[in-house]
Amino acid sequence: MTFFAYRDGILHADGVDLREIARQVGTPFYCYSSAALKERYQAFHEAFAGVPHLLCFAMKTNSNQAVLTTLARLGAGMDVVSGGEIMRARAAGVPGSRIVFSGVGKTRDEMALALREDILCFNIESAPELEALSEVAASMGLEARISVRVNPDVDALTHAKISTGTHANKFGIPLGDAPRVYARAAALPGIAITGVDMHIGSQIVDLAPFEEACARLKGLVEVLTSQGHRLSHIDVGGGLGVRYRADDPEPPSPQAYAAAILKHLGGLGLKLMFEHGRLIAANAGILVAEVIYVKHGAGKTFVIVDAAMNDLIRPTLYEAWHEILPVVQPAPAAPRLPVDVVGPVCESGDYLAEDRAMPPLQAGDLVSVFSAGAYGAVQAGTYNTRPLVPEVMVDGSRWAVVRARPTLQTMIDADIVPPWLREG
Ligand SMILES: *Cc1c(COP(=O)(O)O)cnc(C)c1O
Repeated sequence: MTFFAYRDGILHADGVDLREIARQVGTPFYCYSSAALKERYQAFHEAFAGVPHLLCFAMKTNSNQAVLTTLARLGAGMDVVSGGEIMRARAAGVPGSRIVFSGVGKTRDEMALALREDILCFNIESAPELEALSEVAASMGLEARISVRVNPDVDALTHAKISTGTHANKFGIPLGDAPRVYARAAALPGIAITGVDMHIGSQIVDLAPFEEACARLKGLVEVLTSQGHRLSHIDVGGGLGVRYRADDPEPPSPQAYAAAILKHLGGLGLKLMFEHGRLIAANAGILVAEVIYVKHGAGKTFVIVDAAMNDLIRPTLYEAWHEILPVVQPAPAAPRLPVDVVGPVCESGDYLAEDRAMPPLQAGDLVSVFSAGAYGAVQAGTYNTRPLVPEVMVDGSRWAVVRARPTLQTMIDADIVPPWLREG
């Protein structure tokens, strides 16, 4: 089911005409489908219906309070990577008992905050982090539940910038070091071992790396159990990929993914935890922009739109491919000619699509950039003093602004001119 589709020749989000939102909010804006978020979450949840499990949404992919609240009401947990994300999760009504804390650089302040919120689990990424957490928890008279994020050293066969499960990157500890770290954890005050954890990368569209990693994780669970550690959960991480282009093969379904995971980890009697983000949010959001100019260069046509790399950095950062379609459906017979869709930012890397076959566009036309619900608004910035792009959520035929566009004056007033520059 697709939640962003043409109706009578006009692109809609659920039941809402995108032109109407553009009229009221201005462009560019992100638009999320509440129905899409719910459908994606439920599909995953149902695939694991037969076993104890918890899906902790990787909220770094989309941390808008409306999105978090939508998922929290369905029972989702949250995978957080900062103190700020803990605060956001709590503000959205997620109890500490459904929060897991990942990340290689947790500070002592963040640890203390997480302990006060009595979070479900710290995913420990290094030996020094374990020592620091023990000190913080013991000094507060509390016990931190932990799992150690191990690096199963499998190649996730994905883009280098989003591969995390090999020895060549900063995440997790090598599988072979895990027994030593667990032994240390067992001896430390303020630490309670509860699970094992991994996350091998993102946008993985092949089940083989997951299977390989699960087989290795199972081996570790057996070793740790034989060494007397009592585990209650296995956190498999996130990373299941989504479809960005219509002619890409369909990625594994939640059912196929579940079968692959359960084949290795199903019989252990441990609760399964997941940290998917993209899977839930990517195709639940779009970015709508307006064409400012169409510029015919030497042998190249540029469609200059009012959204840019500061609003959606994925094409620039990961060479990501996003579908772009006009909001007003082009005639089927309209020619498709290659253009670059670019933003106004003063960087050659500022593009949303390169050499893309597009129907004729002109100034004032609206276009929709698809699959922008994950790693979109959260990575937006204000480069070139461009206001943070606003966000809208649609629910059936109703919609609401869920983050407003800041005014330019608010942005300027955030800076403080020092006293010695104020006079004269
Ligand atoms: C980014 C990240 C995720 C989410 O990855 P997706 O590909 O969006 O599912 C999960 N866990 C950790 C530790 C991450 O860093």
